Amino acid sequence: MTNFICETCGVQYEGTVHQPDSCRICNEERQYVSPDGQSWTTLEEMKQKEYQNIIQVEEEGLYSIKTSPEFAIGQTAYLVQNAGFNVVWDCITYLDEVTVKAIKALGGLHAIALSHPHYYSTQVEWAEAFDVPIYIHEDDKEWVMRPSGRIIFWSGESLELTTGITLHRLGGHFKGGAVMEWTNGKKGKGVLLTGDVIQVVADRNWVSFMYSYPNLIPLPATKVEEIADKTLKLKFDRIYNAFHRVVMEGAHEAVQRSAQRYVDALSGRLF
Ligand SMILES: [Zn+2]
Ligand SMILES: [Zn+2]
Repeated sequence: MTNFICETCGVQYEGTVHQPDSCRICNEERQYVSPDGQSWTTLEEMKQKEYQNIIQVEEEGLYSIKTSPEFAIGQTAYLVQNAGFNVVWDCITYLDEVTVKAIKALGGLHAIALSHPHYYSTQVEWAEAFDVPIYIHEDDKEWVMRPSGRIIFWSGESLELTTGITLHRLGGHFKGGAVMEWTNGKKGKGVLLTGDVIQVVADRNWVSFMYSYPNLIPLPATKVEEIADKTLKLKFDRIYNAFHRVVMEGAHEAVQRSAQRYVDALSGRLF
């Protein structure tokens, strides 16, 4: 049995003898099948190639983890160190011994938490390598392509992983779309890690919200207003998205301002 990995979205599937016929994550309007057709690889095959993970300090207690050369969607995962409890936020497909050693040297891991299905990648390999649970909102349960007893499906609107780190379901891009609030981040001003649920745009003073990013399908105004409302009570001054883009300061206000602009654009008031 082989755990095949889709080369377009980087998601690993449960063990099969033959390659799956298609990728469920890519065959859906929030992703896409490569114009060159569906293709598969495995983690073992990737290890024979030139891939490596680059771990960089972003601020005190926060590290980015990114694969080079870029693979599939090309997202960045983050390691948060919080008073002896370390969390990997979102996940990347490539994992090797060098990465495991480097993360263990940074204090190891206690949990993995995911924003949404596009970053499920090889989350089960990561959970097994570090012997930790994976936190996924139950509303996205149907998108888990490699089931595991390590996955904890949380429910409701918020889940505190440890003092200072809380997951919040904002929805939008995916029904169970979650963000991670790290109140000790940015020297106590607070950090929000958002995956694609709140997207940092080219102008780093603004964010946006989409149902589909590759296919440019927007969200309805009511959903964007709901997301903005839910973030009002959260403590953060900085946002990290999944692509190494950061709103360095004033992020709390930027979310409100950006949601208002979005709703104005949808209604025609902006033009
Ligand atoms: Zn795929
Ligand atoms: Zn996404």
